[in-house]
Amino acid sequence: MTATRVPVTLPDVHQALDGRTLPVEDPSTELTVAHVARGGAAEVDRAVAAARGATRAMRDTPPLERGRALRRLAAEVDAAAEELAHLESLDTGKPLSLARGEVAGCVGYLDYYAGAATSLQGDTIPLGPGSLAYTVPEPVGVSAHVVPWNAPLSMLCRSVAPALAAGNCAVVKPAEQTPLTALRLAGLVEAAGFPSGAYEVVTGLGAEAGAALAAHAGIGSLTFTGSVATGRAVLRAAAEHVTPVVTELGGKSPQIVFADAELDDVARQVVTGFTANSGQYCDAGSRLLVDRAVAAELVERIRARAGALTLGAGADDPDLGPMVSAAHRRRVDDYVALGRAEGADAPTPPQPLPAAGHFVAPTVFTGVGPAMRIAREEIFGPVLAVLEFDTEDQALDLADATDYGLGVGIHTADVDRALRIADRVDAGYVMVNDYFAGGPAVPFGGTKLSGTGRERGLVALESYLTRKTVVVRRAPCT
Ligand code: NAD
Repeated sequence: MTATRVPVTLPDVHQALDGRTLPVEDPSTELTVAHVARGGAAEVDRAVAAARGATRAMRDTPPLERGRALRRLAAEVDAAAEELAHLESLDTGKPLSLARGEVAGCVGYLDYYAGAATSLQGDTIPLGPGSLAYTVPEPVGVSAHVVPWNAPLSMLCRSVAPALAAGNCAVVKPAEQTPLTALRLAGLVEAAGFPSGAYEVVTGLGAEAGAALAAHAGIGSLTFTGSVATGRAVLRAAAEHVTPVVTELGGKSPQIVFADAELDDVARQVVTGFTANSGQYCDAGSRLLVDRAVAAELVERIRARAGALTLGAGADDPDLGPMVSAAHRRRVDDYVALGRAEGADAPTPPQPLPAAGHFVAPTVFTGVGPAMRIAREEIFGPVLAVLEFDTEDQALDLADATDYGLGVGIHTADVDRALRIADRVDAGYVMVNDYFAGGPAVPFGGTKLSGTGRERGLVALESYLTRKTVVVRRAPCT
């Protein structure tokens, strides 16, 4: 165990069956804070077998009892919230306040799906006298979850909570950069009274443990959150056993601002939209589409706000923490250099960068054309591309001018206009005058390269269920 300056219990050094481990880095300090097992196919086999061993116990637990167990898990996570937030902040570099908010969100997912466990229902289909047809929702057995590094525990609870509520066992592969909270959750699942095997974790690299899990014959569903390239790889791997897959693959979400919006409020929301979690959210509002009439004024307010944000180690609770890794920081820095090379304009941000850690200061590009790569590609850092429009139709065309279709923010005093755009835009999640609005009950997901399927809400339960149909010939009534 390695010394740390925050009150967390780091995992004992787990080893893979062949003894291999992976270091875990604090991206705020670049220090190694723990080691975890570098698992691969053998560890995945073992975890899936353990989960399969518990499927009968989970399936046969009455929904009310499953709901109670999820509610106990919510209470366990709530009781451990401060520790989990410190652990998440250490592992990702995210500010403590943000980590606390995400852990509170996890409690929300668990509480919501605790209630949803008893909402599962089938149908009866009238076929006339002498026949009875009905459907039964049944768990898929073992659900697999390949989790990203940007909001590790939150993304995990978002999909594991409905999977457990539907009566499945879950096998989780956290991102190699951020495995700590997934491991810590195992103890809380056990304390909540779930059967052994209901929640299994395999740490390791994506190309090893992740690929082995996605291709495993013993899983009944796969939920993947991450990059498009890896999403394609897991879809191909899952095709081997025709495993159903939910993919959540990111975006290039626009915030559309009309001249009648309240500009100070919009400036605040736009800055939160592209800098929260240092821009490492799939639904980051990384494009600003603004009415030319107010563009200069709004950009000035945005740059002033973004320039006042503090950068620092997650544990010091600044406004912005670092990028998750050196490799990711290089990627974001490369995009900033690319934006300038493409001819867009961004003043050097005023913040000095901390001496250690993978920091990038918030950067606002103007003079961006829709064909530029910084206007089309997901950067996953605190970088905003500003594009201007003159008409509502131009705004809509710009909004749709990427391969993604996840979030859309619309800022206007004209509700009819907002609803017109909401009707016509090609995206999965539209927010009017309130960016990042929503919650566990509200379905979330994208169109185009942003992915397939929906998470959150009752609809997400369907990803962890099959529907069995039973048709019966009955003796006619006499
Ligand atoms: P990634 O897609 O490679 O990793 C996400 C998860 O997939 C991790 O758990 C990883 O171990 C696993 N993985 C990697 N290769 C795999 C494989 N072949 N089979 C199965 N699992 C595999 O993401 P990354 O390389 O860490 O990040 C790159 C970019 O992805 C980011 O810059 C961002 O654009 C995007 N991203 C999006 C989200 C999101 O929330 N949608 C989250 C993280 C990253």
